[in-house]
Amino acid sequence: MIFQNPLHEVAIIGAGPAGTTLALALLQAGLKPVIIDKAAFPRPKVCAGGLTIKALQFLPRDIGTILADEISRVNLSFNLNRGFTKSYPQPLLHTVDRRRFDAFLAERVQAAGGEFRQGERLESLTKTPGGAWRLETSRGSLRARVIVGADGARSAVARGAGLQPVDFWHLGLQAEVPRKLIRTAVFDRTIWLDMGSMPDGYAWGFPRGDLLLIGVGGPLSRGRELKGYQARVLSHLGLDNRSLPLAAHLIPHRVTPRPVCRDQVLLVGDAAGLADFWTGEGIFFALMSAALAARQIVGFFQGEADALAGYQSLIDREITPELTSAYQFSKIFNYLGPLAFRCLERYDYPWEVFCRVMRGDRSFLEVKSRFRPDILLHKLLVRSARNRPIA
Ligand SMILES: Cc1cc2nc3c(=O)[nH]c(=O)nc-3n(C[C@H](O)[C@H](O)[C@H](O)COP(=O)(O)OP(=O)(O)OC[C@H]3O[C@@H](n4cnc5c(N)ncnc54)[C@H](O)[C@@H]3O)c2cc1C
Repeated sequence: MIFQNPLHEVAIIGAGPAGTTLALALLQAGLKPVIIDKAAFPRPKVCAGGLTIKALQFLPRDIGTILADEISRVNLSFNLNRGFTKSYPQPLLHTVDRRRFDAFLAERVQAAGGEFRQGERLESLTKTPGGAWRLETSRGSLRARVIVGADGARSAVARGAGLQPVDFWHLGLQAEVPRKLIRTAVFDRTIWLDMGSMPDGYAWGFPRGDLLLIGVGGPLSRGRELKGYQARVLSHLGLDNRSLPLAAHLIPHRVTPRPVCRDQVLLVGDAAGLADFWTGEGIFFALMSAALAARQIVGFFQGEADALAGYQSLIDREITPELTSAYQFSKIFNYLGPLAFRCLERYDYPWEVFCRVMRGDRSFLEVKSRFRPDILLHKLLVRSARNRPIA
């Protein structure tokens, strides 16, 4: 007699925010997913930990207990030169420690009765003649009817299923710096962003409790330039870059409707290339894609034959156009360079629109569809006339 591994309904590979929030949604719907991660939790994750207000809608209500700084201001500089600060009357984002944040969600999965297998790496997957998938892991093998790749930027599930969802790769380099080493108040409720130093690249400083996360991101093909940029950023902040350990990670971007599912395999979050090209934001899209995947997987187990294939249309309708719009705005912003920067400094209107997008009151897609350069110019001129002191 041939011994068969038990057949799981759903196997989720990766317990980052995409994988765990998907597992929670499936558990709530009465399914019993197994979730597998190669790391033992809590585990580190290279990330600035910026959690926008719009991302909170997908998270457990008591997420507030692990949020660090509340951010409502952005300090902007151009090519590491002079800067200015813009404020918004409401919070734009919170910072989180990804080690804590991801462990918090993984604990929720376990508390809800989910099977969480830590320290187990997916090595390969093959379709069995019966239609299920067989997974080989560092600890053995298992079978599942539906596989979800929530395994991040270098997804083994995407590779195993022959899916290539990513258009561009960015590389992020980041150092964690004790806050006391930087003698400036610029980081109070404030993040710092530098633009214009390299094409499609930018630098950030995010406060998180006693730490500052100082990083640079840009095209993977410019890796060397990025290292030089990070060194310049650290010395700009008065830090010795040789003494600070740097961590690096890929950021995957999709701006075209590439495949994210086939044959009962779905990709979510970074595995599907869902990080914003302009802002680098990936957590919101990881959570949103997990919510969309959950809806389709539940439909599949309720007998809707086309539910899993429908995930592709949902991603192409609800997420890809937003990522494409952000990419296009980023290209315009880069092209205009110092002019765009001066506009942002001088006028509040583009800043306010950007804040609304961060909070989820608007999307880049809506902004693009309403974009009328003539009306924008008119608004800017009227506001500039109002701001001008009367002689
Ligand atoms: C430097 C940097 C800064 C960033 N800053 C921000 C920010 O401020 N705000 C924001 O919204 N986004 C940010 N991002 C993007 C964000 O980190 C990701 O978009 C987000 O983590 C994606 O979540 P995920 O669940 O899809 O994948 P991940 O969080 O990457 O989780 C994937 C999980 O899969 C596991 N895994 C991988 N391979 C296997 C395998 N073979 N077998 C088993 N398990 C596996 C990993 O251990 C990991 O736990 C940043 C990214 C970088 C690189």
